[in-house]
Amino acid sequence: MAVYTAAAAVLAGVESRQGSIKGLVYGSRFQNVKQLYALVCETQRYSAVLDAVIASAGLLRAEKKLRPHMAKVLVYELLMGQGFRGGGGRWKAVLARHQARLKAELARLKVQRGVSRNEDLLELGSKSDPATQIPRYVRVNTLKTCADDAVDYFKRQGFSYQGRASSLEDLRTLKGKHFLLDPLLPELLVFPAPTDLHEHPLYQAGHLILQDKASCLPAMLLAPPPGSHVIDACAAPGNKTSHLAALLKNQGKIFAFDLDPKRLASMATLLARAGVSCCELAERDFLAVSPADQRYRQVQYILLDPSCSGSGMPTRQLEDPGADAPCKERLQALAGFQQRALSHALTFPSLQRLVYSTCSLCREENEDVVQAALHSSSGTFRLAPVLPSWPHRGLSTFPGAEHCLRASPETTLTGGFFIAVFERQEVSSSASQTAKVVPQLAPHSAPKRKKKRQKPGAGTSARPCT
Ligand code: SAM
Repeated sequence: MAVYTAAAAVLAGVESRQGSIKGLVYGSRFQNVKQLYALVCETQRYSAVLDAVIASAGLLRAEKKLRPHMAKVLVYELLMGQGFRGGGGRWKAVLARHQARLKAELARLKVQRGVSRNEDLLELGSKSDPATQIPRYVRVNTLKTCADDAVDYFKRQGFSYQGRASSLEDLRTLKGKHFLLDPLLPELLVFPAPTDLHEHPLYQAGHLILQDKASCLPAMLLAPPPGSHVIDACAAPGNKTSHLAALLKNQGKIFAFDLDPKRLASMATLLARAGVSCCELAERDFLAVSPADQRYRQVQYILLDPSCSGSGMPTRQLEDPGADAPCKERLQALAGFQQRALSHALTFPSLQRLVYSTCSLCREENEDVVQAALHSSSGTFRLAPVLPSWPHRGLSTFPGAEHCLRASPETTLTGGFFIAVFERQEVSSSASQTAKVVPQLAPHSAPKRKKKRQKPGAGTSARPCT
């Protein structure tokens, strides 16, 4: 096996928490352990820089068969290493085609960060914990206000508005009292990492929701139109429920379930503060919610964000990603529940679209769960090919896994996250009629905003029912 293939396999194993670098290198059976270990460690050291260069050069979009970890190893060798000493095979020619662009992107990064050497990029990037570099994301709650009004409010408070960002690099370089609109999500404001808005009056009044960008993707990708019926299967503490309600414009119905009474109580407060009035909150085991119940006959959209190991949460990320892996038994138990919940959700008779998400990095809770559910649905559902330009895709453990999205501080400037979007397959002409109700996402174009003014603290009306 060539050293690059072995190194890519080790990096993939580390990312999916199968073990530490050392353990995976020794377990790889690659003969020159020292060479492999050095290459993996160096590639990992430059990981954030390489991710940024690969993303801005559009390498993975142009070369669909090149897997992200292989790309990282090869680009490291091309830009920072010693050329392709370990062969490089067919990818050597492919990389040669992109060499000029990759070098130009690396040079641009250095100019942007005001440094001249590759090592200096480390000072600003991966040497400090990437998790602490995640910007502060703030979702504008369109049930109570609009992005323009929120921007005006911050400008009056002395913040400097920079417009809509055009790339991740704009977000990475945010400093001081500058803020932006996110390039992808229409109503997401982005502030520098240290910004604390917990005491801000707009947050206190429910006009702003402090929510990581990755955690805004599930509701955005589910995209239920106003008037539709939605299940939020594991809903508390409710940030995604309030986002769904905003997309529904409080028209239609959200059936939100959770088992935990304490979390449900804080969810009721959160929903009331956010002005959510279309949600029925219930203390119930989602697995015991019957798809045959007439109340759910119109449910076409389900959000399933089940309990998970939380291994992608920035606070749990350590320097060596292999070190904090959840134990095997816990992973098995979580994955078992996640699989049951997903298969159960897919049996709701009118379901058209489902988003499955976790804040875990573990393959067992993500790609494996999705693969098992696709298998047990026997072709009724397929993965929707969402956000083609999103730089971080599912691990290639089964054909189509690239339709899944992953997120991490290094690649997307967010917490670690996983998302898969299921859509019902069209099987006949009558099915193609129902498919028309599923919205076609145009995620890069911001929907038109309707202005709605309301004073901070104005009345709310969530209806918790336990
Ligand atoms: N979607 C939530 C949000 O965005 O605020 C976060 C959900 S959290 C990751 C998972 C939730 O699933 C927990 O609140 C937990 O109590 C709930 N849960 C676990 N097992 C459940 C079950 N069988 N039925 C319903 N909820 C469950």
